[in-house]
Amino acid sequence: MIDKFHEECGVLGVYNHSEAANLAYLGLYALQHRGQEGAGICSSDGKQLHLEKGMGLVADIFTERRLQKLHGHMAVGHNRYSTAGSSALKNVQPILVNYSLGSLTIAHNGNLINASEIRKELEEEGAIFQSNSDSEVIVHLIAHAKSGDLHERIVEAVKRISGAFSLILMTEREMIVVRDPYGFRPLSIGEHDGAWIISSETCAFDLVGAQYVRDVEPGEILIINENGLQSLTFSNAQRQTHCIFEFIYFSRPDSNIFGNLSVNEIRKDLGRELARNYGVEADLVIPVPDSGVPAALGYAEASGIPFDFGLVRNHYVGRTFIEPRQTIRHFGVKIKLNPVRKLLEGRRVVVVDDSIVRGTTSKKIVKMLKESGGAKEVHMRISSPPTIAPCYYGIDTPSKRELIASNHSIEEIKKYITADSMAYLNTENLLSVVPNPDDYCTACFDNQYPLRFPLQQLNQMSLF
Ligand code: AMP
Repeated sequence: MIDKFHEECGVLGVYNHSEAANLAYLGLYALQHRGQEGAGICSSDGKQLHLEKGMGLVADIFTERRLQKLHGHMAVGHNRYSTAGSSALKNVQPILVNYSLGSLTIAHNGNLINASEIRKELEEEGAIFQSNSDSEVIVHLIAHAKSGDLHERIVEAVKRISGAFSLILMTEREMIVVRDPYGFRPLSIGEHDGAWIISSETCAFDLVGAQYVRDVEPGEILIINENGLQSLTFSNAQRQTHCIFEFIYFSRPDSNIFGNLSVNEIRKDLGRELARNYGVEADLVIPVPDSGVPAALGYAEASGIPFDFGLVRNHYVGRTFIEPRQTIRHFGVKIKLNPVRKLLEGRRVVVVDDSIVRGTTSKKIVKMLKESGGAKEVHMRISSPPTIAPCYYGIDTPSKRELIASNHSIEEIKKYITADSMAYLNTENLLSVVPNPDDYCTACFDNQYPLRFPLQQLNQMSLF
């Protein structure tokens, strides 16, 4: 697979605060789960943009010395997700460029589906790209746009791109925020002490002490400058297609997304759905920590079966899924989770996890619970439908071939992971817990992609 289809990321913007870079740093800290490969902050003092970026975690990249260099009252930050083969500093954002109207920086969360097409076109016209990230395409489109001022150029550029994009752009004097017409990725506006804070998730508002104001609307361009906030619309989308996987796994449970809905509550509801529809006789409900915790709590509450932490997670190990090599991934599960034998021995256990991708984690967990934990029975419950299709809008999923549920029945998966029983939610169960079920993208579960792909790109993707 081409690495540029795998970009998750978190974005953050601060406008009008004397410690803009420090707030951006804290915000990125809160958004660290959205990307651990690299991070960057670009600040503006009204005259000049300053950029610091590096590989690794926010806390390791931004030393006091580096933060001090980020002068000014405005800042844009970005966390980049780890992807095999593209771990290069040149791909870390924000991207900073100089063009005919001055300097411009951009931070992007999401994936464009027509980036390669546009890139090819621009290269034929003489454009030179510095990175292999989708986001640079947007900058070039703005620089090459025919129309006059920056706002018009941005409108022209975002009308050409297709896919998922939550964007924060900044010049020396203003910040421009854009969310794609479908609203794939979350993006919220907060306010703190007269400063505007823009964030992929509201958990960053809590850390910097900001109050949630509203979401950036799908298809909205928000211009923030000395005249205040100005909102433009560029959308002709027929419907919204928020990513349901943000609720299932990706966003933090202490965030509210997609119209201020609590991720924690939605996850608990998914667990309740599991218990109501796929209940089983058992003595104990345990989560696969951390992402399975809210759903397991919901399951325990609805079933009346006691909840406990039967698996303990070592928090000093990275997410196993993002390790690039198969050998490390297997090893990762073992060093990451350990069973609590005193709780599990001789008991019938329901294990709740949020999703199964390749099946590697579940298989190891069942084995571990039985062999080291001494569990009598292990019943796997997954708080999402079988993941059968890859995501092309910004969630890191492997190709169809590697998704266990794309080529195995639930019964076969049960056998493979050696569980005594197993169940997933179905799409109907899943959508029953959100207020506007038609406003979601569920392509990874039903193969129904809301945006059509350019033909050329289809050939490169392992869609079928
Ligand atoms: P696997 O072993 O490949 O089946 O991975 C399943 C585990 O990966 C589950 O515990 C999920 O919480 C987690 N997971 C699901 N989607 C992702 C993702 N996009 N990035 C990282 N981890 C994920």
